[in-house]
Amino acid sequence: MKCLHCGAEMHESDLYCANCGTKNEIPSPTEERNPDEIFPTAYKIRKATRKITFVIAIIVAIFKILGKI
Ligand SMILES: [Zn+2]
Repeated sequence: MKCLHCGAEMHESDLYCANCGTKNEIPSPTEERNPDEIFPTAYKIRKATRKITFVIAIIVAIFKILGKI
């Protein structure tokens, strides 16, 4: 196999490339990738939505408390 970084010939069992020192990472298409890694925008939107939901929950809680007084 060849080093993904510099293209130097290296053995599959080698942990690091002897030429450039890049870690030998064999790309595995079957490996499940984190969807947040592939769609960072979707992750940000989801994160923001969660934040808004949290704020709304606090506001509702405050109103409930105020309503009891
Ligand atoms: Zn290399």
